[in-house]
Amino acid sequence: MTTSADFLSKLNHSQRCAVEHFCGPLLVIAGAGSGKTRALTYRIANLIIYNKVNPESILAVTFTNKAAKEMKDRLDKLLAQEISSKNYKQPFDSLSEFNQKKLLSFIYKKTTKQLWIGTFHSLCARILRYDINKYQDSKKRKWDRNFSIFDESDVQNILKNIILKQFNLDEKTFNPRAIRYAISSAKNLGLSPEEYLKEHSYSKGRVIAEIYDEYQTQLAENNALDFDDLILIPVCLFQDNKSVLGYWHSQFKHILVDEYQDTNRIQYTLIQLLTTNGKINKNSWNWKNRSIFVVGDADQSIYSFRMADFTILLNFQAEFGDGLPDDDTKTMIKLENNYRSTENILVAANNLIYKNSQRIDKTLKATRGKGEKIYCYKADDEHIEAEFVISKIQELISINSELSWKDIAFLYRVNSQSRPFEDILVRKSIPYTIVGGFKFYDRQEIKDSVAYLRLIVNPYDTVSLLRVINSPRRGIGKTTIDLLLKASQELKTSLWEILIDETSVKTLTGKSSKAVLNFVHMIKKLQEKSTELVSTDIFNQVMQKSGYIDDLKRKETEESDNRLENLQELYNAMNQYREENNDPSLQGYLTNASLASDLDNLENENNKVSLMTLHSAKGLEFPVVFLVGLEQGTLPHIRSLNNPLSLEEERRLCYVGITRAQEKLFITYARERSVWGSKETKIVSQFLEEIPQNLIDNHTNIIPEKSSWKKNNSMDNNTKWAVGDHLVHYSFGEGEVTHVLGSEKKVNLAIKFKNLGRKIIDPSTNSVTKIF
Ligand code: ATP
Ligand code: MG
Repeated sequence: MTTSADFLSKLNHSQRCAVEHFCGPLLVIAGAGSGKTRALTYRIANLIIYNKVNPESILAVTFTNKAAKEMKDRLDKLLAQEISSKNYKQPFDSLSEFNQKKLLSFIYKKTTKQLWIGTFHSLCARILRYDINKYQDSKKRKWDRNFSIFDESDVQNILKNIILKQFNLDEKTFNPRAIRYAISSAKNLGLSPEEYLKEHSYSKGRVIAEIYDEYQTQLAENNALDFDDLILIPVCLFQDNKSVLGYWHSQFKHILVDEYQDTNRIQYTLIQLLTTNGKINKNSWNWKNRSIFVVGDADQSIYSFRMADFTILLNFQAEFGDGLPDDDTKTMIKLENNYRSTENILVAANNLIYKNSQRIDKTLKATRGKGEKIYCYKADDEHIEAEFVISKIQELISINSELSWKDIAFLYRVNSQSRPFEDILVRKSIPYTIVGGFKFYDRQEIKDSVAYLRLIVNPYDTVSLLRVINSPRRGIGKTTIDLLLKASQELKTSLWEILIDETSVKTLTGKSSKAVLNFVHMIKKLQEKSTELVSTDIFNQVMQKSGYIDDLKRKETEESDNRLENLQELYNAMNQYREENNDPSLQGYLTNASLASDLDNLENENNKVSLMTLHSAKGLEFPVVFLVGLEQGTLPHIRSLNNPLSLEEERRLCYVGITRAQEKLFITYARERSVWGSKETKIVSQFLEEIPQNLIDNHTNIIPEKSSWKKNNSMDNNTKWAVGDHLVHYSFGEGEVTHVLGSEKKVNLAIKFKNLGRKIIDPSTNSVTKIF
């Protein structure tokens, strides 16, 4: 096999073995920051360039859409470098330099677009766009290729309707969210409603099975899938239909999975089917010109609530490793150098994770020098914590010209922790982005316009139809809609089929029939156009013809202006998708939009501070990391405190957080935190205490503790205050009085604090002491 020494020089020996290994199974197991993802990316490049593997036959699974995009970008660069290197250029020697460049750029751009890189969900959605029409479930429910993908709010609406209205059940016993979780878990274990019933034959289980069954029926009626179906249906299809499986098995010769420790059962089954063509007998697996390559770290398994199961990683060799043509072939490689973090950070992380009992010990050596100690800060409450973190990042940026906002991340356990940070970031005009919390696609105007587009592609999508039928208002009231819906339910046909029958509409809706018919006419016209126009043009047409844009323009409020801007942003996103992907169709874009969920963000490329939960931080790295809220009950999360296994998962989360840091790690915690409006006293996280103290540099703003402070100052109520007085506040530190407000009876002070700006404080609360 030919490999370019240059190309592989950026890898160590073990990584190189992983990259050059061609056929058969291979597991790369290693700690955080050891270059697993790098090895996986280089392996794809190596397969294409040196093994001459057709890019279309490579299937690479990443954990987030964002990671998929990053991987594609990296590959773009790698392939560009390599393809323009000497040996590859030879066949084009006769061309001019300019034409060579043009041709090569064309080749690698085309190559990366052909690759199947994405999350389990996005890749499966792509497979289903080809083949879902070949599937029907045990109750003969069917879908066609134009299926919609329902998001959580669509799903919740359907379930609420079934539970509360159709089945008339009590919300407390059959909480829609809990039922949603039960159905999702069933799907992630690969269970159909009938199989669920077999395993849960007690009375409540039977009802849940019925709800699940009805829910599937309604999804099918809408020609829609939920996120879990995206993976479950291909698996069922492959199990039922050998020729479909055979097709995809021969299409994907090389399968690669990143973050394999967070694979769940159904995802594993999918990989297993594609790899082995459904053959049970290991000796009949044919590894010629094909491979399965997975990378992972059991210490970073943090998605058990989505049924992830890291024993799948531990069993990889037992499952795939036998029956190889050559018994000596290695099936596991360990990487032992960490290239990401400085030694102090790494030693802290290693010491923490040693405390877990459920793990396999491994070595992870630092390669980047000792680095600074971990800066640890104890704040009085979450506001002071946020004030500290933000003044610290301002300081860091001002003293280090090479550092920019995008190099900094704040990591926390739960989304709601971001708010105090956001408040100050906004106030100080510091650019920031919330990874995972920025639900662009959840906004009303975006959901409305996406619903229009979904309806054009899939008129059976009643959920989208109901969303837009009277938005903007066009005189189709609730009574009319209810009448139409009732007719569709009684006739067991879709709402759309009722709507396209002019006579029925006229009979049913009387006065508002004109409005309904106009609406149907508009959608039909847009459907016709959708076969000729590109997605962005359809979007423009929809927005104009539906009157949506005009309606917003007429309102002329700040909110409507905002909505118009968001629609502009949606147009930009569609345009970008069209340029970057092989699939300029409206349907392709819609799939992408439905999947741009939790962990993605439209704006993440700019120079902004990143705020995200520890779960979203997986696989990422930042020169400066602030790990905030290290208190018992925050991290570890309160629900895990009495459960040793959950506590271990929380420790893994903390390990993931620490190992995101490249150069500087700050850990903060608060002595008090607001919970539902009242203050709760917190104690420091056991995880912080499990880190060797010699690696930590401790700081606090609590000088002295508030309780003793109160006692010392209880006589100070009579202090006379004047402008220019210097004082110290128990949590904001030193400051100077700039104004004395109010009357003698009730004085308030405007105080300019050293680092925090001006605040108004009531001195009678004993929070301040005069210095001079
Ligand atoms: P995680 O477990 O967090 O996903 P990982 O094992 O996937 O981490 P990578 O993200 O691939 O690690 O690599 C971590 C950092 O180390 C990256 O900045 C990467 O570019 C760098 N790196 C990886 N391998 C090498 C190497 N051989 N030489 C120098 N730097 C490397
Ligand atoms: Mg990685």
